[in-house]
Amino acid sequence: MLVGAGAVARTSLAGRLGLACAGGIVVDAAGRTSRPGVWAAGDCAVAPHPQTGEGRVRIESVQNAVAQASAAASMRGAPAPGPQVPWFWSFQGDLKLQIAGLSAGHDTTVVRGDADSERFSVLYYRAGALLAADCVNSPADYMVVRKALAGGHTIPPGVAADAAVPLKRALPAPGTPKTPAAA
Ligand SMILES: Cc1cc2nc3c(=O)[nH]c(=O)nc-3n(C[C@H](O)[C@H](O)[C@H](O)COP(=O)(O)OP(=O)(O)OC[C@H]3O[C@@H](n4cnc5c(N)ncnc54)[C@H](O)[C@@H]3O)c2cc1C
Repeated sequence: MLVGAGAVARTSLAGRLGLACAGGIVVDAAGRTSRPGVWAAGDCAVAPHPQTGEGRVRIESVQNAVAQASAAASMRGAPAPGPQVPWFWSFQGDLKLQIAGLSAGHDTTVVRGDADSERFSVLYYRAGALLAADCVNSPADYMVVRKALAGGHTIPPGVAADAAVPLKRALPAPGTPKTPAAA
């Protein structure tokens, strides 16, 4: 049995080059390191939180590496793209796991569906604001949560808990002002 229990960024080379490191190479939202003319992206980088811009996180996913690489468009003087919702996927046997957002800092969870059915979602909230969802064999939930987070909207926990109601009904009409995002 192989147990993957996390990874640590190897920053010795970056440190020798004089780049600021704190659990990874420290970059800004555009991928710039502490040293002018040097950018970093992907697993090795600790960047501002992609949804809130507050605090720094190191995210290990293909999507994050690609998103941070496009943020490094600042290398050629182009503006960095706006905030992006992190997302992840994995196949574990016949389980399709899809994750939208970052759940760190949540104070409430809502389970939607029945875990025994192997088709359910767990939504994470802080102070009533939606932070993320882990969706198992529930691609429709995943898409709605990702859309809500991208639009800066929450999904009321009471609505999310009722698996009989399609989650998309909780999405506000296009043009609805954003609800305050959790920091
Ligand atoms: C077992 C496993 C399963 C995963 N499953 C998923 C998944 O399901 N979904 C998902 O989104 N992500 C998954 N990931 C994470 C994903 O692979 C990484 O987040 C992604 O590859 C990061 O891209 P990167 O370009 O930052 O780094 P990497 O893809 O690791 O590329 C870094 C490259 O730099 C090279 N390198 C390192 N040091 C040096 C050096 N000194 N000189 C020259 N070259 C060097 C390495 O050889 C490597 O080719 C998984 C990772 C692992 C290990």
